[in-house]
Amino acid sequence: SSAASDVYKRQAYYDALTGLYTRRHFLELLSSNASLAIRHGHALSLCLCDLDKFKQVNDTYGHRLGDAVLKAFAKVVTEEVRNEDIPGRIGGDEFILMFPHVEASVASVCVERIRKKFEALTFTTEDGVDFHCSVTLGIADYPAEEISVEQYMEIADQSLYKAKEIGRNCTVVNMEPIKAATV
Ligand code: GH3
Ligand code: MG
Repeated sequence: SSAASDVYKRQAYYDALTGLYTRRHFLELLSSNASLAIRHGHALSLCLCDLDKFKQVNDTYGHRLGDAVLKAFAKVVTEEVRNEDIPGRIGGDEFILMFPHVEASVASVCVERIRKKFEALTFTTEDGVDFHCSVTLGIADYPAEEISVEQYMEIADQSLYKAKEIGRNCTVVNMEPIKAATV
């Protein structure tokens, strides 16, 4: 294939800012993994991640720092997931993770690590002002009956919505909030 078509292929598969899979490519992988899960009866879980009050980060600190925050989140995700787990960026401040062969209750341990590591990052403006960001996560098991990827995303989105409602910077698994560990 030509160099130009390789560039187009890379743009279609990988998000330019974060290097994670694009929405389109992620959904193709989700579709094939869902079919495999149903056919072989193994687990599959999906996690939607949405950065908290991210518009405010852009408005207060500027779009460039906003981009740096998005990149930093992608880096945390890449560091924390295992090789067989699949991360993507599906929109502006919306990310997604697929965990083949893993139940949502188990995947929640991984995504809680991501949440805490991201929350602990300190960002600094050119003027030396420090700020923090956080992320809200919703995870769902793939159901026993085959559904479309759109329906599956919608189920995970309900958990994410609930987590945002509860107060953000938290994880909801199959509509059940994870109780923060009391230290
Ligand atoms: P919530 O906690 O409810 O998620 O609030 P929010 O402010 O994160 O939600 P909203 O969807 O209103 O904001 C997402 C923002 O993401 C809006 C847009 O300015 C910003 N955004 C989208 N794409 C990019 C990008 O590529 N770079 C930067 N810096 N900002 C982006
Ligand atoms: Mg957001």
